[in-house]
Amino acid sequence: MNLSLRYYGDPVLRKKAQPIEKITDEIRQLAHDMVETMIESNGIGLAAPQIGVALRIFVSNVDYEDEEGEVCLGEPKVYINPEITQPSEATVERNEACLSIPELVVPVLRPLTIIFEATDLAGKRLSQKCSEFLALCFMHETDHLN
Ligand code: ZN
Repeated sequence: MNLSLRYYGDPVLRKKAQPIEKITDEIRQLAHDMVETMIESNGIGLAAPQIGVALRIFVSNVDYEDEEGEVCLGEPKVYINPEITQPSEATVERNEACLSIPELVVPVLRPLTIIFEATDLAGKRLSQKCSEFLALCFMHETDHLN
């Protein structure tokens, strides 16, 4: 099901999203619908508040690094209760766009690398060092939850 997007000015986008305690059928359905919505919107990431749900979950389909550091082509993935730690002192400024603020592209200064942790739909906690565009996307989507 394609969900309707919320746009800049909608109060849900300012609300702090709540942790997901348990991966239920409802969460699996939500994740599935978020992936469909992201793809239909030509997005590379979508956080739950962007479809009006204040829960800590986002989906993304940017290229990613596996545990050996190999870059894998982007397939839609689900990230639950993400945490970002160890932001590097080195920073990089890049243009960012957002499905909730259509047609606006602004440069944002962010750490170059981070440690990113999240739980997948199977309940497995993943931790990985991310850099470049992947780190940017994970930071952008995690910002939506905060
Ligand atoms: Zn966004």
